[in-house]
Amino acid sequence: MQKQQLTVVVRVRPLNSAEKAKKAFQCVFPLDKRRVLLVDPEKFENNILRQNRQHERKFEFDATFGAVSNQEDVHETTTGPIIDSVVQGFNATVFAYGATGSGKTFTMIGTKERPGLMTLMTKALYEKLDSQYQVLLSYMEIYNEIIRDLLNPTGGDLELLEDEKGNIRVPGLSSVRAPNLSRVMIVKNQTLHSKLFMIDLAGSERASNTQVETTKYVNYRDSKLTRLLKDSLGGTAKTCMIAHVTPSSSNFEETYNTLMYASRAMNI
Ligand code: ADP
Ligand code: MG
Repeated sequence: MQKQQLTVVVRVRPLNSAEKAKKAFQCVFPLDKRRVLLVDPEKFENNILRQNRQHERKFEFDATFGAVSNQEDVHETTTGPIIDSVVQGFNATVFAYGATGSGKTFTMIGTKERPGLMTLMTKALYEKLDSQYQVLLSYMEIYNEIIRDLLNPTGGDLELLEDEKGNIRVPGLSSVRAPNLSRVMIVKNQTLHSKLFMIDLAGSERASNTQVETTKYVNYRDSKLTRLLKDSLGGTAKTCMIAHVTPSSSNFEETYNTLMYASRAMNI
């Protein structure tokens, strides 16, 4: 799957105790390494009128991760290969998509015991590098089109600028440098630069719910995020979308929307 420019994978988190307490049940079933089955919860209600409706739908992705997969499984299959191309000088973007509560932050950041992709990818990157490389890490938030530096949260809003070469920059954004990796890699007298974005997106349900209510509607094409990723999506850049769903019958609609969105992305 690493040969493709865009990979789309789905992660299904375990059913949690709150969902079980509400008598919700599993309606998403990973079938094998790639396919997932979504069953309309109404199938379980013994409604004769609905029996002719199509109650099941299979979706196929580059990979599917069920409740038993761990952070390392996700990393090895999806983001490990991306690190290889970053080291070769290609830009890349990994983003977590899905409704609120579906597990995006768990995948990207994780917990102390189960560190997520941001940690696993950064570790993998350092393991692949030697002293010829220099790594700069920045951490920012875009909320309501306002860019904030999370390494310097009191520093005020930041702007996004495009220079005459078309490079996108965020002047004033702080970055940290690994002290032991100090020189820049020289290949045929050229410096290789690559950018890797690791993104924990806002809940996908907000796009439909809150955006229409905000007075200042921002076109997707003009959004800061789209502009920021301009040279890290498409072209030679590798992109990995990790779509997240809950297995719970109580989230069927969101799950259906997310799987449909992800399968459309599969066809790009
Ligand atoms: P989101 O960022 O999409 O809103 P979270 O990552 O905060 O969702 O996940 C919601 C809850 O589910 C959290 O308590 C998180 O720890 C838990 N969770 C999410 N994914 C998993 C997983 N794969 N395994 C175990 N717990 C998970
Ligand atoms: Mg989150």
